[in-house]
Amino acid sequence: MDPFQTPLTYLKGAGQARAEVLKKELGLANFEDLLRHFPFRYIDRTKFYKVKDINPDLPYVQVLARVISKQVVGEKHTKRLVVQTRDDTGTLELVWFKGINWIEKTIIPGTVYIVFGKPGFFNMQAQMAHPEMEVYSPATMQRQGNATLQPVYNSTEKLKQFQLDSKGIQKLTSVLLGMHAKDILENLPLYIIQHFKLISRAEAYKNIHFPADANLLNEALHRLKFEELFLLQLRLLRNKLLHTQKFKGNVFGTVGHYFNDFYHHKLPFELTPPQKKVLKEIRQDTQRGVQMNRLLQGDVGSGKTVVALMSMLIAVDNGFQACIMAPTEILATQHFQTVFNLVGDGFIEVALLTGSTKQKDRKVLHQKLESGELKILIGTHALIEDKVQFKNLGFVVIDEQHRFGVEQRSKLWRKNIIPPHVLVMTATPIPRTLAMTLYGDLDISVIDQLPAGRKPIQTLHFFDNQRLRVFGFMKKEIALGRQIYIVYPLIQESEKLDLKNLEDGIAVMSREFPLPEYKISVVHGKLKAADKEFEMQRFIKGETQIMVATTVIEVGVNVPNASVMIIENAERFGLSQLHQLRGRVGRGAEQSYCILMSSHKLSHDGKIRLDTMVKTNNGFEISEIDLQLRGPGNLDGTQQSGVLDLKVANLATDQELLFKARKTVEQIFAKDPQLALPENQVLHHAFQTNNAGLSWDKIS
Ligand code: ADP
Ligand code: MG
Repeated sequence: MDPFQTPLTYLKGAGQARAEVLKKELGLANFEDLLRHFPFRYIDRTKFYKVKDINPDLPYVQVLARVISKQVVGEKHTKRLVVQTRDDTGTLELVWFKGINWIEKTIIPGTVYIVFGKPGFFNMQAQMAHPEMEVYSPATMQRQGNATLQPVYNSTEKLKQFQLDSKGIQKLTSVLLGMHAKDILENLPLYIIQHFKLISRAEAYKNIHFPADANLLNEALHRLKFEELFLLQLRLLRNKLLHTQKFKGNVFGTVGHYFNDFYHHKLPFELTPPQKKVLKEIRQDTQRGVQMNRLLQGDVGSGKTVVALMSMLIAVDNGFQACIMAPTEILATQHFQTVFNLVGDGFIEVALLTGSTKQKDRKVLHQKLESGELKILIGTHALIEDKVQFKNLGFVVIDEQHRFGVEQRSKLWRKNIIPPHVLVMTATPIPRTLAMTLYGDLDISVIDQLPAGRKPIQTLHFFDNQRLRVFGFMKKEIALGRQIYIVYPLIQESEKLDLKNLEDGIAVMSREFPLPEYKISVVHGKLKAADKEFEMQRFIKGETQIMVATTVIEVGVNVPNASVMIIENAERFGLSQLHQLRGRVGRGAEQSYCILMSSHKLSHDGKIRLDTMVKTNNGFEISEIDLQLRGPGNLDGTQQSGVLDLKVANLATDQELLFKARKTVEQIFAKDPQLALPENQVLHHAFQTNNAGLSWDKIS
C-alpha cells in the first residue's frame, strides 16, 4: 500500500473537518497532494523590524511588539477588531475584518508577540491587516533561528477559519514529512542524478518545504524542475515513439516529374535556406515508411504555402492525392489562388472545395476524387465531410492548427487505410520551449527568414496628440493609390463601449476623409455575415480606400494593395495580436507601414510591447518576449492545454533546463527505446502512475 495515497483525515492534526475543507478549497485529498502543495514563496524570519523602520513599501516583515489594548469597533459590515501594540520605537495598529471573534479571544493584552504581516499606513499610523500572531518566548526565537526561510503556502479565508492559514498548513506538512520523508522514492535513474549532480527526491521534498538554507532551497527547486520537465518529455517522446511504431506511413520513394518540372521550370524564385531545409526534412520523413506528423511554423509571407505545394507534388509523383485544409473560406480561396498562380494552367489540376461550392460542381469533384483523377484539393472543413472520399490520400496540409484541433486532424487520417502524412502550418510562431512542450510529440520545422528583397514593414509609434500628422500621412498614401486598415480594440468588459469607440472613430474618420473623395468600409463583430463579406469585398476590390474594423478582420486576409495598418489603442493589444495584425500589410511590392497609436499613459509592459513591435518584425523574437511578459499559461492558444500544468518549472525562465531534459530523454530513447536496460527500470514508474507519484510498488 502506497502511504501517500492515505486520505488526509488520517494525518495527525488534520481530522475529518479540516481534511474536508482542504479538499474543497485546495483540492488536496491525500498525503501526496499535501506534499505537492508547494510554498509559493519564502520569508526570511531571522530579521526583526523596529516599528519606526517599517513603511508600506516593505514586503512581509516581522516585529516584536507588546499588545496594549484590543477592541471590536463598528457595526455589521464595518465591524472590525483593532489591536494596539508598541515596541520601544512606536505604535503599530493591527486590524482584523474577518474571524474577529476567534482572534479576539486568543489575543492577550500585556503579552509580547511576534507580529508578522504586510505593513501599511492609515491616517499616518503604521498598520497591519490580518497579521500572523505568535506569542514570543525564548523558545520560539530559538526555532526561528534554525529555520531561516519560512515557507508561505496558499490558503483561503475559509481555510483560515479552520486555523489552516499558511502556518497551519506548514504544521501539517511538517508532521507528514516527519513520518514519511523516508518513503519518498527516487524516480530518476542514478546515472542521471549523478550526471546532473541532483539531490535525491526525498531531500528535494524536505527542502522545498523547509529549506535548511537558501542554497539547499535552490538545489531542491532545481531537482524538482528537472524532474518535472524530464518526465513530461519522457511521456511526449514515448508517445511519439509509439506513434511511429503503430502507424505505418506511405513511402514516397521517388521525386518525379511533377516536382522536378515545377522546381526547374515553374518556380519563379530561389527558395530561401529555411524553405530548402524544411523540404529536405519532409522529404526524409516521407520515405521512411512511418507516418509524418510535422508542425511548420513561420511568419505570414515566409513562404509556407510554396513548401506545402512542393511537398504535395512529391506525393503526386508517388501516385497519391494531397489536400490543404484551411479554417475559413477566405483563407482556402487564398491558398487556392497562391497555388494556382504558381502552377499555372495545364500543369496539374487543382480544385477548390468550400461551403459555397455549388452542388453540381461538388458532384463532379467527388467523382474525380474517388476515381483519383483529381490530385490536389484545397478547401475548408468541407473536406472532412464523409461524402468526400479520396482514392488514395497520401499527404494532408492543415493551415492554422489551433482552429482545428486533433479531432479533425484524425478525421482526415481515417480517409485512408494507411494514414496520410500530415503537415500542420501555423503563422503564429511560438517560442521553442513552448513548441517543445505543447507539440512535443510532433516534429517541428521552422521558417525564420523572409524571402530576399522584401521590404520590411516599418513600424512607428505615435501618441494620440500626434494624430494630425498621421492623418496627413494617410492622405499621402491614399494619393499614391494605397489602401489603409484602421483597427480598434475589443474591450471584453463592455460591448457598448467597444461600439462607441468604433463609432467615434468612424465619425472622426468620415469628417477627416469625406465623400466623395474618400470611401470607407466598416467591419465589426455585430454585422451580419453577409454584410461583413460585402464590406470586405468592397475593400478587397479597391472600391474603398480605408477599412475601419475591430479585430474581426480575417486572419490571413490578403489585400496586397493595403500597405498601411493603423492600430488604435495599441497598448490594449497583446504582442502576438499586434504582430498578427501587422501581418495584414507588407504583402505587395510597396513599402508598408504599421502605425501604433497610444495614449501617453503606458504601463511598464505596455511600453515594452510597443517598443518590441517598433524594434523587430521577427515573430519568433516577439513570441519569446511575449512569453517573458505574460508567462506560458497566457499565450494565445495555450490556455486549454493541460500540458502546461507545470508545478515548479516555468517555460519562460527554465529554458536551459528544458533543453537539457529533452536532450537527455532523446539520448535515452536512442539507446534504449523500450526502457529495458536495468539502469532505466526506474523510469517505468513514470508511465504506471502520473508524474507525481511519490512512492510506487517495487518493480515486480
Ligand atoms: P505564407 O504561406 O508563409 O504566408 P506564402 O507561401 O503564401 O507565405 O508566400 C507569400 C508570397 O511570397 C507568395 O506570393 C509566394 O509566391 C512568395 N514567395 C514564397 N517563397 C518565396 C521565395 N523564396 N522568394 C520569393 N518569393 C517567395
Ligand atoms: Mg500563405
